[in-house]
Amino acid sequence: MPTTRQLFLNHIAQTSPGPLMFEPVRGAGIYLYDSEENPYTDLISGIGVSALGYSHPKVVKAIQEQAERYLHTMVYGEHVQLPQVAYATKLAKHLPEPLDSVYFTNSGTEAVEGAMKLARKYTGRYEIIACRNAYHGSTYGAMSLMSDSTYNAPFRLRVPGIRFMSFNSMDDVLKITRKTAAVILETIQGEAGYIVPDPEFLHALRLRCAATGTLFVLDEIQCGMGRTGKFLACDHYGIVPDILLLAKAFGGGLPLGAFIASKELMGALSENPTLGHITTFGGNPLCCAAGLAAYEALLEEGHIEKVSGKERLFRSLLKHESIKMISGKGLMLSVELQDADAVLRFVNKCFEISLLTDWFLFKADAFRIAPPLIISENEIEQICNQLIEVLDAIG
Ligand code: PMP
Repeated sequence: MPTTRQLFLNHIAQTSPGPLMFEPVRGAGIYLYDSEENPYTDLISGIGVSALGYSHPKVVKAIQEQAERYLHTMVYGEHVQLPQVAYATKLAKHLPEPLDSVYFTNSGTEAVEGAMKLARKYTGRYEIIACRNAYHGSTYGAMSLMSDSTYNAPFRLRVPGIRFMSFNSMDDVLKITRKTAAVILETIQGEAGYIVPDPEFLHALRLRCAATGTLFVLDEIQCGMGRTGKFLACDHYGIVPDILLLAKAFGGGLPLGAFIASKELMGALSENPTLGHITTFGGNPLCCAAGLAAYEALLEEGHIEKVSGKERLFRSLLKHESIKMISGKGLMLSVELQDADAVLRFVNKCFEISLLTDWFLFKADAFRIAPPLIISENEIEQICNQLIEVLDAIG
């Protein structure tokens, strides 16, 4: 009788030659448990998804209640489905003007695709500028926004009309012209190793976009939903994008993303042609019910306000001679070690002692600390002691 692990290797399409092969059977709080009830500490939140940890009772309840009412009824925009309407209405009230119209998607990459189409359609322009070392998703358009040819060359990607600028380069802001439909960037660059923007850079981009009629698109798929200590990372800088992208934690653990803009801008998708951008499952009522419950819990339980204090605690406790630098913001921290080999040994050793962490696509010499926001101070202290022990052990 083959084990589940063998069947996994035989029948689940693999995305790397050496999958981690961790087999969780349940999750609670910041822990995942294996079949022998051993707890594993999740330091990466399923990469940015589990902001409330696992099995949050309000999210579980919302899913159960919606499952009993109805699941799928009709593709996007035809039926009035309460979970969608309730979530979009709350977001429209909470988000800064003019972000009041929500297009729900199934994933982050689809939110990016939607934003690219909307920008071209609304402006009638062709050029889209993205940042080097960005990660916006793995579908054709989103992955064409990736500058690194290691990833896009084998697939012969490259949607035409895409140019690149460097993150935090004031000179490159001038690449934006009246020909540019949109500039898209992660407010905090994720796979580049949690690179924080210079405030002047973001402000210069915002001004340049306003001056050239270019749409300013912020991908907050990983850094949004409270991860940096404010609901959106761009809230730290007083910047409002023309199109905001959310996903990951936005669905409370179920697949949900969104691109959000003003009603006027979003209107470009409803005509010429009608049905020019549609989705069968985007905004599925079950996902919206879960997302809304998670969003409400995040705000009502005061998790976001506590993020900065938790960041300070991590930074104050993580002192070790092999740590070269800690970058990032809030509970989105990147810890740089000597080199990629040290990180590989570190991540493997962490797994041996039941700590789940990971490295970055474009920064192999750093590991991530991005735990569920519900992590307690005691848990942080315990984890930092363990991390220091691992750093001692790998030498
Ligand atoms: N943008 C950013 C910043 C991301 O981190 C990710 C996922 N890692 C995506 C887009 C793509 O999201 P998804 O995997 O849901 O398509």
